[in-house]
Amino acid sequence: MRILYVVAEAVPFIKVGGLADVAYGLPRALRAMGHDVRVILPRYRAINGSAYGLRSLCPPFPVPVGLTGETRVVEAQISEAHGVPTYFIWDEYYFGRDRVYGYPDDPQRFVFFCRAVLSFIRHIDWQPDILHGNDWHTGFLFLWLATAGRWDRFYRPIATVFTIHNMAYQGITGDALLAFGGIHEHVERLEVEPPGHVNWLARGIAHADAVNTVSPRYAQEILTSEFGFGLEPLLQCRVDRLFGILNGLDYEAWDPQSDPALVARFDVETLERRAENKRAAQQAFGLSICEEIPLLAFIGRLIEQKGVDLLLEAAELMFARGVQVIILGEGMPDYEMAFAEWPARFPGQAGVQIGFDENLARLLYGGADVFLMPSKFEPCGLGQMIAMRYGALPLVRPVGGLADTVRDVAREDGTGFVFTPFTQEAFLAALNRVLDFFRNPTAWRAIQRRAMAQDFSWAASARAYEDLYRQAIAWHNP
Ligand code: ADP
Repeated sequence: MRILYVVAEAVPFIKVGGLADVAYGLPRALRAMGHDVRVILPRYRAINGSAYGLRSLCPPFPVPVGLTGETRVVEAQISEAHGVPTYFIWDEYYFGRDRVYGYPDDPQRFVFFCRAVLSFIRHIDWQPDILHGNDWHTGFLFLWLATAGRWDRFYRPIATVFTIHNMAYQGITGDALLAFGGIHEHVERLEVEPPGHVNWLARGIAHADAVNTVSPRYAQEILTSEFGFGLEPLLQCRVDRLFGILNGLDYEAWDPQSDPALVARFDVETLERRAENKRAAQQAFGLSICEEIPLLAFIGRLIEQKGVDLLLEAAELMFARGVQVIILGEGMPDYEMAFAEWPARFPGQAGVQIGFDENLARLLYGGADVFLMPSKFEPCGLGQMIAMRYGALPLVRPVGGLADTVRDVAREDGTGFVFTPFTQEAFLAALNRVLDFFRNPTAWRAIQRRAMAQDFSWAASARAYEDLYRQAIAWHNP
């Protein structure tokens, strides 16, 4: 199949969160199965062109904007540095900025990106069988193909798949952007859209041939008001087209046997070598250097979703239990400030780095005893899968992908620690269980071995996507 994978971020070029990891792993896995997959994303200024051999692909080409025949000329670039042809759309005004997201005109930026993607594939005359868009940033593609592009012989045969990576980000904007994107026919408002507004996540859900999210559990959860963020009525209408496919992990990119960021590389037979990584992590954060003290690590965006309130509320009682905790993350300024106080409040026990640091993250996965992920909700989560592969036992809530990937040690085949109520008490009770197991090195090792033996590689998930693509094609061309 010819598959165009449209996404806002992709490893190794640019990464904000797990979406970028997926945009690396899935296309590679599909490519290995023989499909002609190509990835396309904006060329942000932060992408280092020479590091990835980016080169201009074709003469600059026009992208229509608005309804009056106006165009903007953009450049397309390509990198084949890591096996999957990756296209980049470059427009200085929209993408020549320091960050990927977080600008007031984000909806306009991504509508423009989508419009450019559509022009680009016609320009190079490459008609995919499947257009696979991800998150609200690509929602415009689905509306456009279902309206303006519907009668066009080039676009009409293209079947579409839309993947929801997170219901919390919807891209709601005024409906003037419809005209900006070149949609002149009347567009019926969706019931879930406020009058005069467009919800780009909803548009992906409403118009794609098939919709999926990134874990089976999350696909169930988002049908409810607790997790649907207001779009549950629309999802319920499309439930026959809604699937859950667990994200995979790229087992080459995440391998404790060969990870150069580790001080000591290891596998399931040489788990004792993790102690060197633990020592290096303790040293890097100015913690007491001691193998017997349990080291807990949190790596992730500092946002409400990730359950960081629980860590902040429980801090006194958590540290009173003698543990060490390292926080690596960035996000909401209030959370950043609250965690930044920890090292002074809990000297020798708390280590905090506000920022994004891939190598440090890897050292922590390979050195921490426990990986903290007490999320309120979690569409899939990669952190816990990486942690298990690196022998750090996850402490999680059973939501979304965490429920699908971590089994509590109360079971014989347990791989981590699971607690349900989003309360300090439940969290601390789970921490007590962690400490009980930690005092028994034989039991701890056995859990680590089981966690490391889990198979979260992309192969199975990529096959599920292959089936979904076939199904989408059948629905598109009945
Ligand atoms: P999300 O996509 O919601 O951010 P995931 O758990 O799916 O959460 O993916 C997060 C990814 O980003 C993981 O690969 C994790 O290691 C990485 N990550 C998150 N924050 C940081 C950070 N501050 N430094 C380094 N890596 C980080």
